Amino acid sequence: MNHPFEINKDGHLMVGGVDTTYLARKYGTPLFVYDVSLIRKNARAFVDTFRELGIKAQVAYASKAFSSIAMLQVAKQENLSLDVVSQGELYTALQADFPVERIHLHGNNKSYQELSMAVEHNIGCIVVDNFSEIDLLEEVLTEQNKTVNVLLRVTPGIEAHTHDYILTGNEDSKFGFDLLNGQAEQAFLKLQNMEAINVVGLHCHIGSQIFETDGFIMAVRKLFETLGAWKQKFSYMPKVLNLGGGFGIRYTAEDDPIPLGGYVDALVDEVAKQVDRHGLDFPEIWIEPGRAIVGNAAVTLYTTGAKKEIPGVRKYLSVDGGMTDNLRPALYQAKYDAVVANKANDPLTEMVSIAGKCCESGDMLIWDIEVPEVEYGDILAVFSTGAYGYSMSNHYNRFPKAAVVFAEQGEDQLVIQRESYQDLIKNDLPYEIKERV
Ligand SMILES: *Cc1c(COP(=O)(O)O)cnc(C)c1O
Repeated sequence: MNHPFEINKDGHLMVGGVDTTYLARKYGTPLFVYDVSLIRKNARAFVDTFRELGIKAQVAYASKAFSSIAMLQVAKQENLSLDVVSQGELYTALQADFPVERIHLHGNNKSYQELSMAVEHNIGCIVVDNFSEIDLLEEVLTEQNKTVNVLLRVTPGIEAHTHDYILTGNEDSKFGFDLLNGQAEQAFLKLQNMEAINVVGLHCHIGSQIFETDGFIMAVRKLFETLGAWKQKFSYMPKVLNLGGGFGIRYTAEDDPIPLGGYVDALVDEVAKQVDRHGLDFPEIWIEPGRAIVGNAAVTLYTTGAKKEIPGVRKYLSVDGGMTDNLRPALYQAKYDAVVANKANDPLTEMVSIAGKCCESGDMLIWDIEVPEVEYGDILAVFSTGAYGYSMSNHYNRFPKAAVVFAEQGEDQLVIQRESYQDLIKNDLPYEIKERV
């Protein structure tokens, strides 16, 4: 089985100890259902491995994967730190009462307002991404008469084995300062000369949905080449090394991720070697998993609808959601697995392709999946939709956004309401039609 969930004696899929067919009836579909104990388990796999190795660390949940008040409450409870990349994500974190000293701000185009808000609320760290931002940040710090911790985001020139669109660690990237062409050093020196800025270390993020540890290890080596040189030249000792996120998860049987703690083991091992080699103090290690914390913890429930069979070609099975609640297949040909939640033990008898409801041929959730005999009104559960599902959802075709439920130890709680049609038009204003001659 490619998913971590149980099937009950009625052949129904259970998430967080709750029957998904009951949840679909109670809350309607499309519906995101998170197994909260799985979120906790994923978080602890990182946090506990660092602790067992005796390494000072921060595991910063990349909240872009799924940000909501309830989610950030759980992240806080699990002692995670938090990455935010916008005022909206920062606002959500503040509303969730997330400890500000554990919030880090990212972004390749942070606005004056975003930087102001971050500085005003004394967040733990700003990850500086480019030269324009340094100037803006300087203005903000002067205006507020404050100091701030920063990490310098660098691109180490590593190509992680992943889809091109989600590759961010290579030289030609909109993110960060390049290590090889000297811009990283130039930025470092500029920041070091600024009284109000404390450069606590370096940051890199080499990509997403990465299964091998070698990309991370190569990145660590590249960072230490630079840090070794900066020690010699500037007597600089970093306090923090932030190695980003991107740890892969299982979407389909083709994906074979290593246990989450394995990434931590590999990173710590390489940092230890490099620290020795360059005579540096052991830095705190920060990582930024998003997908690996929440990805496999949720399913999306849909109600099945129209079937279209093109003889000799394909059977389409349409569901009541699609690219509005899961953009990833359309955006990067992402693959998913699913089960008919009310017939989870039935024999698989037909091959279908799961279509969304939007007016786009590209709105397909899954190509070619075996399912049992499906009827109108069955419940389809798509697995591993916890990351970049709800957070990327949109209003195309004016579909209201889905609801989100947290289930844990047999209890379910609505944590994001389904949007109403009034919600959809709440910002629309009528046009005052005037007689014009
Ligand atoms: C997106 C992102 C992450 C999280 O990536 P995942 O693949 O969800 O783990 C972490 N750090 C940075 C800088 C990112 O842009």
